[in-house]
Amino acid sequence: MNGQGLIKGLAITLKHFFQKEITEQYPDVMPELAPRFRGCLRFEFEKCIACGICVNSCPNDVLSFETEKRDKSKKKKLLSYTIDFQYCMFCNLCVEGCPTSCLSFDHDFELSQFKREDIKMIYLRPEGLDEAQDSPADQEEQKDKEQKQIAAMLKALQKSPQKVLSKLLEGEEDINILSELIQSDQKTAGKIAELIVKDKEKAVKVATGFINKDRKNRAQKGENGEGGDKDV
Ligand code: SF4
Ligand code: SF4
Repeated sequence: MNGQGLIKGLAITLKHFFQKEITEQYPDVMPELAPRFRGCLRFEFEKCIACGICVNSCPNDVLSFETEKRDKSKKKKLLSYTIDFQYCMFCNLCVEGCPTSCLSFDHDFELSQFKREDIKMIYLRPEGLDEAQDSPADQEEQKDKEQKQIAAMLKALQKSPQKVLSKLLEGEEDINILSELIQSDQKTAGKIAELIVKDKEKAVKVATGFINKDRKNRAQKGENGEGGDKDV
């Protein structure tokens, strides 16, 4: 029927017109807010996977973040997340798009600040989050990958130690000493292979330690007359 919508609208207006007026006594009495009221946008750092969906879905460029590449993984590591709240129009698109539910609106509506820059909310990466952010499956996968790399490195070291060590050490004599050690001692070979994969700098230090120790041993043996040419 024509005009049905208009009649419905007028009925609602009339209903409210005759209702008792309520004056909210804010700020003495805080108002009762609807459950889905959108106040301040909150962010949970631990849940964010730095996918960028929120940034792309925001029509007002409110959101931005900084990342860096995670060690030994293609995944990105979130360094900081910024919400420039002064431009937010509470459309909820970012919240709806986030796959890990790290964005949400709370009921805090008292958002005014004295300085414009204080409206900006910057979340920095909490310390010690790296280990916590890797899921057990990720950790297992990373461990497996590392073990395979160490096994391959050990194989290469035992097959052609000089070739591998020339990428780690500079002096030819040092390379020869460590090559001999690696070929004669499985434990030394394993340690060096593991360190080359995990921490190259430490591998150089440990390798230098092995070489110096071997030199010292040889010198001592020389002094004691062991293994050298004896005068007849
Ligand atoms: S609510 Fe809308 S405007 Fe505000 S940050 Fe999210 S997408 Fe951007
Ligand atoms: S959509 Fe969610 S998970 Fe993806 S970057 Fe934004 S806040 Fe992080």
